[in-house]
Amino acid sequence: MSTAKGKLTVIKGDITDQDVDAIVNAANSSLLGGGGVDGAIHRRGGPRILEECRALRASRYGRGLPTGQAVATTAGDLPARWVIHTVGPVYSREEDRSALLASCYRESLGVAEGLGARTVAFPAISTGVYGWPLEDGARIAVETVRSVATSAEEVRFVLFDERAYAAFAAQLG
Ligand code: ADP
Repeated sequence: MSTAKGKLTVIKGDITDQDVDAIVNAANSSLLGGGGVDGAIHRRGGPRILEECRALRASRYGRGLPTGQAVATTAGDLPARWVIHTVGPVYSREEDRSALLASCYRESLGVAEGLGARTVAFPAISTGVYGWPLEDGARIAVETVRSVATSAEEVRFVLFDERAYAAFAAQLG
């Protein structure tokens, strides 16, 4: 499966184990940590990630990172070089927030491009605590990543359980 230059891959696993240039964090706008994948990244990445997040809150993002945007920090003790934090939308039945979810993938790839990251790993943004239906979240993720021109060699979706893996694998065809 190919993007502009690289390939799209999907695996079942833990994103904190990934030996890639950049991993993407499904953060919340406070940037100060949370549960799910965010908690796992801060736990295994150590305190340097939180230090840089605090510095971002004290400078560019005094009111937090807006939904749909992305920003990078060190990956601390993780195998990756960078963590790209992005804030997914909370799922809503009343309001279509798909554009914000697509924005997370697009903006994260833009930040990765700026860093010169050649390999990037994504979790299934918004599909945990934020309640986005998995099949729809997978569709938006794959369609968006396919539509972005990136010089990355590999964009990897890392899914934590079998159900999420199956949903993403189905989208990749
Ligand atoms: P959100 O608040 O954006 O919904 P969550 O962290 O609650 O973020 O969940 C996003 C997705 O990340 C879920 O599908 C969840 O199963 C998955 N997840 C949780 N921990 C990890 C991990 N260590 N590696 C990869 N995916 C993870």
